[in-house]
Amino acid sequence: MDFSFTPEQLAFRKEVEDFVKAELPPDWDDQAVFWPGSYGTMPQMESEFQEITRRFNRMVGEKGWNRLGWPEEYGGRNSAMKAAIAGDVLSYYRAPAGGVAVTIAAPTILLVGSEDLKREFLPRIASGEAGFWLAYSEPNAGSDLAAIKTTAVDRGDHFVVNGQKIWSSGAHVTEYAWAIVKTDPEAPRHRSATLMIIPNDTPGVTIKPIINICGNHSFNEVFFDDVRVPKKYVVGEVNQGFYNVMLALQFERLAIGSGAFKRVLEELVQYAKETTRYGRPLAQDPHVRRRLAEMAIEIEMFYSFYWQSAWIQDQGRVPETEASALKLFFTELGVKLANTAVDILGPYGLLDKGSPWAPFGGRVALGYLDSISGPIGAGTSEIQKSIIATRGLGLPRAR
Ligand SMILES: Cc1cc2nc3c(=O)[nH]c(=O)nc-3n(C[C@H](O)[C@H](O)[C@H](O)COP(=O)(O)OP(=O)(O)OC[C@H]3O[C@@H](n4cnc5c(N)ncnc54)[C@H](O)[C@@H]3O)c2cc1C
Repeated sequence: MDFSFTPEQLAFRKEVEDFVKAELPPDWDDQAVFWPGSYGTMPQMESEFQEITRRFNRMVGEKGWNRLGWPEEYGGRNSAMKAAIAGDVLSYYRAPAGGVAVTIAAPTILLVGSEDLKREFLPRIASGEAGFWLAYSEPNAGSDLAAIKTTAVDRGDHFVVNGQKIWSSGAHVTEYAWAIVKTDPEAPRHRSATLMIIPNDTPGVTIKPIINICGNHSFNEVFFDDVRVPKKYVVGEVNQGFYNVMLALQFERLAIGSGAFKRVLEELVQYAKETTRYGRPLAQDPHVRRRLAEMAIEIEMFYSFYWQSAWIQDQGRVPETEASALKLFFTELGVKLANTAVDILGPYGLLDKGSPWAPFGGRVALGYLDSISGPIGAGTSEIQKSIIATRGLGLPRAR
């Protein structure tokens, strides 16, 4: 088996790298404290980074890199591997790119959406103009999404939506809800809901902020009061919403930033080489060396899942248990990397952004807090293990 990239893929990587280096502000590293595998420190979610996020996404759109994995008839290059290469580089530089629209809504619309939806949304997602947020969770529905209470009542050419969503990441900085709502509360649970797109600016949509553990506004709670949604905004079939959300969740679990892990490891290695503690270079401390070596091995393992997932998609298949394994592995790796960083930095790793003594601009302290978000969002680690046990290993469901 040949694991090397083709000359074309390497040239493409270089093209993305040159672009990112030229277009991100020179002090971007000091501004973006993003921690790999987590959600609460993404600059894309922050109001203060909206200008750069939008500008950068438009430029990525102009390059055609938001649709690399799409079929050629929709302007894509039919290459999940190229999308993974671009994603790797963008993540390495902590670039404010990607997002729900590109990584989740677009591939799902391509598979189950109507031609009208494709015509209306795909070009605007490709150009970086249309942003989406995920309206799945409710105060009493998380892992068990079938327990949602938000309803959509059929009124002929439109639905009327009432209810509440929570933990709605980025609802305040995007344009459309990607929402699961009950359309037939009497039907068996898994045939009772519909996936639909709800524009944020529809009368009756109210978005209220929730501040996360890092002190950032990433979450929201969102209320729908008599919100009229045209039927053309249904994604896939009415009452088949759970199947379509499962598909979207598979894409979400694949939507990961790989390069950011490698970047943190490189920074820690450099730090260990340059820092002396108790008269001895950290790089000569056996404990520090062991922790860094462990991370290097795990990051390589993670990359093998990452490239394999892209390869599977290029064979025309949507990874399922592989997507769960990838999501489980990378979010748990984010926690391990944060623990390793704090272990190596000692008390300096606990210093916040703004402290003159905080290495990496306080990224480690924030990352340590934020890392715990990864194993919860997009289906918890327990849920991923359950999917792998049931779908991958053929075990009966747990009771
Ligand atoms: C950072 C972050 C961002 C998020 N962003 C969004 C968003 O944008 N949109 C959105 O809709 N939601 C979002 N969520 C919500 C997220 O999807 C839910 O928190 C998650 O699905 C878990 O649901 P819950 O919080 O209700 O926990 P519960 O489902 O109540 O689970 C509680 C605990 O029980 C375990 N558990 C539950 N069921 C099982 C089972 N069957 N087998 C074994 N263990 C089980 C869970 O693993 C967990 O440990 C986000 C969450 C986080 C942390």
